[in-house]
Amino acid sequence: MPKLALLTAYGGPIELAEFPLTTPAPGTAALKLRMAGICGSDLHIFRGELPLPCPFAMGHEMVCEIAELGDGLTTDATGQPLKVGDRVVTPYFWTCGQCHACARGRSYACQNLMAGEFRTQARPPHFVAAHGEYYYTTRRQPLYKVPEDLADEAVAPLNCALAQVLFALRDVRLGDTVVIQGAGGLGINAAAVARTAGAAEVIVIDKISERLDVAADFGATRCINADGISTAQVTEQVHKYTGGIGADWVLEVVGVPNVIPDGVGFLNNGGTLLEVGNVGMGRTFELDPSRLVYGNKSVRGVMLYDPVTLAIGLSFLQRTSFPFTRLMPKPFHLTDVNAAFASADAGLVPRGALVP
Ligand SMILES: [Zn+2]
Ligand SMILES: [Zn+2]
Repeated sequence: MPKLALLTAYGGPIELAEFPLTTPAPGTAALKLRMAGICGSDLHIFRGELPLPCPFAMGHEMVCEIAELGDGLTTDATGQPLKVGDRVVTPYFWTCGQCHACARGRSYACQNLMAGEFRTQARPPHFVAAHGEYYYTTRRQPLYKVPEDLADEAVAPLNCALAQVLFALRDVRLGDTVVIQGAGGLGINAAAVARTAGAAEVIVIDKISERLDVAADFGATRCINADGISTAQVTEQVHKYTGGIGADWVLEVVGVPNVIPDGVGFLNNGGTLLEVGNVGMGRTFELDPSRLVYGNKSVRGVMLYDPVTLAIGLSFLQRTSFPFTRLMPKPFHLTDVNAAFASADAGLVPRGALVP
């Protein structure tokens, strides 16, 4: 029987459970996994930093192929016909379509996220997460067909990492300056997105030089190694690269609260800090709020995305030439899922990958 990775306790181990395949419900699809990513959120869950019950089905970042289509599902969200074997991506979440936020066109801020179809591996269709051999969609998860010329390695991070930064940076305009705090999977994707959006400077900050080398290949115009230097020195460099005034945008993808006050210090007047990385709960930071008031600076939380971001992301991957396949250097086999998590948890790779 096909397998699904379950976190048995915070910190591991992860065990492979077996479940039977079922016929997909009308309007849904049974998908066969081709490649899955291990993202920062997976690591937060793995470490017990999110209040999720164990055993927990791991993974949400993936590219799949259609194994079986439920009744009535004949096309993807852009009208392209679908058949068994087609590669597809889908959002890992779904929204209610009926709450105030959804009705106002902000479905990414849905007040009833995943409502009505809460799923657990304990009940059919069992395959409710990406670190396994199959994944079943719900009726509220649109599919987007993957163009043939894109490699699995490039597409696997789309439905989380790449879509998240595409959506976070959606208001960046030609000539803006962007600082990215953290050159992990999100930060590297973000550099490519910001550069493609026409940012005049894309300044990436990290403490690991190997990560900054990768960022330089993904559109970063300046890299700052913050290892061993003070926040004041980093701020000085940011100002040097932004005409002495600071950046229009700061994207926080380190996932550590105390870099947020640093980020506010990198902003120009009217600038916005995009807070994406801190998905772990219960941790805090200190900030003098007058630093926001003087200069009309903002902090904007960003989570999830409009599903159409996946179509934008596929187009972005097709039409830009960043070496995306480099971000997924050596996938682990699903049977080595514990080694894959250990490697990703140690920060040895920009992003862990699993293949069934
Ligand atoms: Zn809603
Ligand atoms: Zn993720």
